[in-house]
Amino acid sequence: MEVIQSFTIDHTHLKPGIYVSRQDKGFTTFDLRITEPNQEPAVAPAAMHSMEHLMATWFRNSNVKGDVVYVGPMGCLTGMYIVMKGSYTPEDMRTLTIQCLEWILTQHEVPATTPETCGNYLLHDLPMCHWECRRYLHRLQTDFHSQYTMLKVTLDDGKIFADA
Ligand SMILES: [Zn+2]
Repeated sequence: MEVIQSFTIDHTHLKPGIYVSRQDKGFTTFDLRITEPNQEPAVAPAAMHSMEHLMATWFRNSNVKGDVVYVGPMGCLTGMYIVMKGSYTPEDMRTLTIQCLEWILTQHEVPATTPETCGNYLLHDLPMCHWECRRYLHRLQTDFHSQYTMLKVTLDDGKIFADA
């Protein structure tokens, strides 16, 4: 098996921000990094789940909704992936995400939290979601990062990818 691209990023030097995870076939996968991996606590599962519902709702109702392919959390719970069709830059996504987070902070409920509309409808936490969104918003506004540090170690040493 080949090592996949996102496992070659140095996760010990990854600040919260917005990065291009990969670009292929006319699609760009953005890494919306919310917490600093292996340095800060990851986002709690219930807060991340609420953020997913709210972010997906905003992006799929925004003026770029036609280009939004996918919104979903990372397994490591330190960020969100957004796949966009066409050419968007981290700076474009920064502007959109700031608008999205400002909207989330005005919301008093999480959309689609019934047994019919969600696969784990009790796993939600809006207050903690708001806490994470407030901090991420502040970081995007004041300390924006968009350049990855890549691992320099040889790729055939499987051990370096344990934290991906
Ligand atoms: Zn759900």
